[in-house]
Amino acid sequence: MNTAAATGLLHLIAAEPGLLAAAPEGATGDDLHRRAGDEDHPCLGCGAPATCAVVVETGPSGPRWLDLCSPCWHTVRQANEGTPDSAGQ
Ligand SMILES: [Zn+2]
Repeated sequence: MNTAAATGLLHLIAAEPGLLAAAPEGATGDDLHRRAGDEDHPCLGCGAPATCAVVVETGPSGPRWLDLCSPCWHTVRQANEGTPDSAGQ
């Protein structure tokens, strides 16, 4: 997945949050770890086994899970911030 695809994914999620699985209200780090580590979810970007899970607030639809593998998470984060990786964290 490249940055353009990641941007498209973010736009799709914003438009159709129902595509994502509902996440619990107030999910904690433990919830994220369990989702990413103990459960089996495909990466939304490329279909590989997801290793990262984040909760996105979608407004009326509530919190939703965003499952990603490490490379896609990296790309999505860049797309979301709109900054090149060399800018540093
Ligand atoms: Zn991926």
